[in-house]
Amino acid sequence: METAKSPVPDMQPSGGAPQNRKRPRGMEAAAMDDDEVAMGINLLGNSLGNRFLFVAIHNNYIKNDDSIFYDLMGFWGKEMGTLFDEGFQIHGQIFKIAVLGMCGDAPFIRDAGLMTRSFNNIRKSATANTILPGVCYLCAAGKTHGPDFENLDILTAEWLSTTGVNNLLPWNEPPPILAHIPCQQQNLANFFKGDLFHIWYSGLGKDFCGSSLIFLLKTVMHKGNKANSMSFLNEELRRWQRISKSPPHFGKFTWDLLDYDGPRKYPKGKWSKGMDTGKVTKFIEFLLSEILVENEHGPMLTLIQEGCKSIGIFLRTLFKAGFFLTEQEAHQAISAGYTFLLTYQNLAKTAFSLNKALYKLKPKAHAFAHLVLEMLVQYKQDRSSVCNCDILLGYHAVYQPEYKARR
Ligand SMILES: [Zn+2]
Repeated sequence: METAKSPVPDMQPSGGAPQNRKRPRGMEAAAMDDDEVAMGINLLGNSLGNRFLFVAIHNNYIKNDDSIFYDLMGFWGKEMGTLFDEGFQIHGQIFKIAVLGMCGDAPFIRDAGLMTRSFNNIRKSATANTILPGVCYLCAAGKTHGPDFENLDILTAEWLSTTGVNNLLPWNEPPPILAHIPCQQQNLANFFKGDLFHIWYSGLGKDFCGSSLIFLLKTVMHKGNKANSMSFLNEELRRWQRISKSPPHFGKFTWDLLDYDGPRKYPKGKWSKGMDTGKVTKFIEFLLSEILVENEHGPMLTLIQEGCKSIGIFLRTLFKAGFFLTEQEAHQAISAGYTFLLTYQNLAKTAFSLNKALYKLKPKAHAFAHLVLEMLVQYKQDRSSVCNCDILLGYHAVYQPEYKARR
């Protein structure tokens, strides 16, 4: 809660191009004809050039008074509304700013959107009978007597019929930020966007990596006892680092880093840098490429490998793509994202049938399903208009936890 209420709103542009493409950026690009500008993702490069800090308020000022936080949200929304309605002038030209959405971590989204349905409304135990409002502001999943949020199949899940225009508003009173910003009236909640940084790199990816490594350490990489098994894993990590030349920030694995506390508790990666999740996924893929040669292909190993492979294709496709994905890129990313969702669900089911506490199905996994679903919905509307910006690292208006770390 305190983390969520340390507002550091900033904005990121959705146009421009990455540094390595040598294309015009920002205002320079905006001043050119559309044909001259191949839109790209401009997250790379100096953050002074692609992030615009609006304000920062220390948590102490607002922790006992919510109204300051909501006044700030409303004020920011008003400023953005003016930039859309009236715009601003540079060198005789008028530029207008359209806010496409707001990203942030799950607690921030819950608070900024005054959400009555959020990730923390999960059933606390199998026997709990509290009436639950639902875990997702984009659909009715997780609601008592509602569809299961654990179903990740974005083609058949029951919760699909409660998304989009069928999604009941997830708030009792409209969030102040929406008062002045033009947004899709039939799907207001969709103004609040999930993003890969919070949902994959700092969320589901850590669950996937943590569970996969614990499974390997307890089975095919087991070396008699916990200490030996972990040493063996770290030797393999050093070997991989020499080949890949991409060391993770955390240095070496420990049981604590994998949040392992016995076979009844679900593990997860506890490394602080979200980007290490990508490195660990590649390392697991490397381990499996060797292990699978030497071992019987049990269903879990095959599924873990499939998970690494599909999420790798999904992420690489997005990072290489521009602002809009080509039809082929969109198809590839959606297929790979869908494969990963089914694979993760399958891993959870298989682990459960083996009585192993691995691959927990949390609301974050459901949120990842919404990311892929959003792309699929856009693809069905127009195959060449699948937008990358909604799904990369959090664009437009973002709560940036890294600013907090620098305070
Ligand atoms: Zn949902």
